[in-house]
Amino acid sequence: MNKQELEKIKQKAIEEHIPIIMDDTLEVVDKILKEIKPTRILEIGTAVGYSAMCFSEYLHPNGKIDTIERDAERVEEAKLNIENVGVKDKINIYEGDAVEILPTLNEKYDVVFIDAAKGKYPFFLKEALRMIKSNGVILADNILYKGYVMSDYNKHKQRTAVRNLREYIKEVSENPNIETEILDVGDGLAISKIK
Ligand code: SAH
Ligand code: MG
Repeated sequence: MNKQELEKIKQKAIEEHIPIIMDDTLEVVDKILKEIKPTRILEIGTAVGYSAMCFSEYLHPNGKIDTIERDAERVEEAKLNIENVGVKDKINIYEGDAVEILPTLNEKYDVVFIDAAKGKYPFFLKEALRMIKSNGVILADNILYKGYVMSDYNKHKQRTAVRNLREYIKEVSENPNIETEILDVGDGLAISKIK
């Protein structure tokens, strides 16, 4: 893996305000992946491929990542990036809306990383639970959404997103088969271990 190229891609994404995974969040996810050595990872929200490329380092030697992105331009850029970094054989991109693509998937995943439309998190969770292996981990980035989720401020124009993020937290917290931790790293990360 070409780390120099990956760093260039990261800097370009930051300059272009593409919301790639934050360093402190990545640090936490890296630790989890190191422990699991996943064979299969599902990512919802590829953007330009940065997080998927970072995660690919921790895959089991035969492992693979499936990642979903609906923005055609980002898909093209992600494909180029993945090729330039030299991890093309480890990452498969599905182009389209995850709401449509997820129900067509029937794989079992060790890790699911949710990082797309916040208003769809409860739906993404339902699909992740259908495909997660036992002892697998479901991660949800941006779960605290700039602090809105834990504050009583709900007049914000993003209140639909906030309501759905709260519903996600409620569902993972109340499900007896899931053990969840919410970390205040980056924009908030929910770590849900499936029993
Ligand atoms: N995981 C990336 C960042 C993803 S940003 C990283 O850390 O490097 C979120 C991405 O999700 C955006 O590119 C956006 O186009 C995509 N997205 C949002 N809603 C989506 C949906 N319903 N289906 C597929 N992609 C979606
Ligand atoms: Mg994110």
